[in-house]
Amino acid sequence: MLKTGKMLKQVQHDNLNNSRNQMTLDRIKYFRHLLGGIKEVIHSRFISKRPRPFTFSHMVTNKCNGNCDFCFWKHHKDNEDLSLKEIQRIYKEAGKEGYMNSILWGGEPLLRQDFTEIAKASYDTGMYTKMATNGWFLKENHEFGKYTDLMFISIDAIGEEHDKIRKLDGLFNRCVEGIEFHKIHYPKMRIYACCTISAANDFSSIKDVAKFCKDMDILLYFTINKSYHNFEEWNGKNGFKTLELENEALSEIFREIKNLKKQDYPIRNSDYFIQYIIDKKTYYKCHWPQIATVMYSNGDLLRCGDRKPVISVKDRPLSEVLRSPEFINMINVYKECKLSCVGNYALDASGLWRFEWPAIKSLAQIAIT
Ligand code: SF4
Repeated sequence: MLKTGKMLKQVQHDNLNNSRNQMTLDRIKYFRHLLGGIKEVIHSRFISKRPRPFTFSHMVTNKCNGNCDFCFWKHHKDNEDLSLKEIQRIYKEAGKEGYMNSILWGGEPLLRQDFTEIAKASYDTGMYTKMATNGWFLKENHEFGKYTDLMFISIDAIGEEHDKIRKLDGLFNRCVEGIEFHKIHYPKMRIYACCTISAANDFSSIKDVAKFCKDMDILLYFTINKSYHNFEEWNGKNGFKTLELENEALSEIFREIKNLKKQDYPIRNSDYFIQYIIDKKTYYKCHWPQIATVMYSNGDLLRCGDRKPVISVKDRPLSEVLRSPEFINMINVYKECKLSCVGNYALDASGLWRFEWPAIKSLAQIAIT
């Protein structure tokens, strides 16, 4: 921890006048992707006769070196991951089909030694390429930074408290070293800490994470360990449900987060999202399946409600799959979804989809900061 403290002080000093998160011309690609997303929404809503999702979410591997209690996925490691060649083919098709951005995740994506090529395949199609990692291999397997626009690193608390939540001794220090490394070698990449709010951390640890991000000059996104799903088959298999906070507790935490955001902590959750949680709302009209396609590591496209496979793209062209009755039907069924997920970008993206002014306004504010 001594090492981390020293490092943080140095970084704090360096950041006083020169934040890496200031608006620069390099971010034009980001705006292109946002405008492209809006164009796709208009096309999908008013012109196309079929759904045209534009976010490609890919679990590049189901293997992980962590063992987090709240992991959805760790009991489903029985499939073979797609090969690099298969992934390259699918991303190429995704670019042609109008997907504007990708998010590459896992499992732990950096366990794949070919992850740099995977990121490159996404980046080369012009998709705004994001990845999510637990931060363990940031230095060993780092070259993906050349082809990644934005990286999320899970950080739920500071120091050993984080290591305990993620069940990996030394993880926090490795994250700090990895972040510093990437800031130096890949200065254009946006770096986010992604802090999962659950019963495993409290507001005091959350505030420490916000301070950490400010000192490190990186951005912060809070995600919530709340599924609203009740997967009977998973009961007893993980701590997902037991670590969920009730709406009342979440509301209190987000009231505090709203205050932190006002005090210029680098929090990038939208006001729209924050207010929804503070107001303890339990329903919004979700359009996530119309916006995002989720591909499991073996090439199955998943439906979000129960994460069951709908159709595989492993041996079939993506263009054919996107026009198949199975895929279109899945999207139409979820138009009536009542689950109101808040653990991903579904809430924000759905607000944009409906052109709701509070969502547009608060996301635009984030975009220009
Ligand atoms: S609320 Fe949205 S993201 Fe969640 S399961 Fe329903 S359609 Fe999917």
